[in-house]
Amino acid sequence: MPEVLAFATDDASCQFHRTTITRREPGPTEVFFEVAYAGICHSDIHTAKGEWGPTTYPLVPGHELAGIVTEVGSAVNKVQIGDRVGVGCFVDSCRACENCRAGQEQFCTGPGRTIWTYGARGRDGLPTAGGYSQGITVEQDYLIRLPDAIPFEAVAPLLCAGITLYSPLKRWGVGPGTKVAIVGMGGLGHVGVQIAAKLGAEVTVISQSLAKEADGLRFGATHYYAMSDPATRKALRSSFDLMISTVAADSNLDDLLGMLRVGGALVDVGLPEAPSTLRLGSLIGGNRVLAGSQIGGIAETQEMINFCAEHGVVPQVEIISGDEITGAYDKVINSQVRYRYVIDTSTF
Ligand code: NAP
Ligand code: ZN
Ligand code: ZN
Repeated sequence: MPEVLAFATDDASCQFHRTTITRREPGPTEVFFEVAYAGICHSDIHTAKGEWGPTTYPLVPGHELAGIVTEVGSAVNKVQIGDRVGVGCFVDSCRACENCRAGQEQFCTGPGRTIWTYGARGRDGLPTAGGYSQGITVEQDYLIRLPDAIPFEAVAPLLCAGITLYSPLKRWGVGPGTKVAIVGMGGLGHVGVQIAAKLGAEVTVISQSLAKEADGLRFGATHYYAMSDPATRKALRSSFDLMISTVAADSNLDDLLGMLRVGGALVDVGLPEAPSTLRLGSLIGGNRVLAGSQIGGIAETQEMINFCAEHGVVPQVEIISGDEITGAYDKVINSQVRYRYVIDTSTF
């Protein structure tokens, strides 16, 4: 059984320390790949802090993994040794239920449901452990092929942040002539701005302040507003066809809904610990839609990565060592990351 170095936290205080974990030998249809880079998603932080319910510790988070295949099972035909591959939020599902067959494996209803990359239980009965590690064994069907056109150290965030924005932008038909607002420009938001702009939309960023305005315009936005400015709510009233909120803290949904045109939609992908409140009048007055969206399936994730490679969508990352994970969590919470921390696992 391959043993790999990893970084884990033993409790909700999120003090990460070096440890060793055991991965299973790849079965006939499985691949072992050496993780080179792993992104830190705010969902890792919510989970590690126990904000979404009870968490099993020790926890090795990480669901934005980019690496190189070093071992393949006898029946593997999707990838070869030496290929660049990635894994996102899940590593397996039943493949037979209605949702799996529709390419929405993230909503698997079969036995065992969607098996999340960490914090779940794998088919081998062992707890799953994520990308803050030097290697992982995965079923080949749950791998994403990583195009060479995207720098290797910057590609990992697309595997969660990228698909989480791409999927609703596609589903809501964003293209030339669509007015889109991205609310919150962190890890998810800064990729969303780029993808929406490349789809041809007119993109506005709504951030807490104007501190990141120059970056937002560089990512492809044409307008940038601060929610802290009392004039913003009025200035943006009835402006957008689609808004995607990536805000990781409690926010005022009624204020955002008021910025939608008649029939417009607010898709919330941010999942803070605190429950959100909503005045139903905010929806009814304007035929507005409030929707959610959870990552995307394997085929759509591959489509998204190919789109990003073709259109030059590249996450802006800060590379950190394993010892810097603990400090990085606080900086993400304080919106100080520009724009995704990516752990270089060779530093373990
Ligand atoms: P992130 O890098 O921390 O970005 C979140 C952004 O939210 C911040 O950059 C900030 O934007 C804004 N924000 C934070 N605190 C705020 C506050 N108190 N008031 C107003 N705005 C605030 O996090 P992320 O990795 O992009 O993830 C964002 C959220 O999406 C998290 O809740 C995460 O769990 C969730 N998520 C959901 C899915 C899904 O499938 N639905 C997938 C991945 C992540 P500004 O700096 O621009 O103000
Ligand atoms: Zn994530
Ligand atoms: Zn299924």
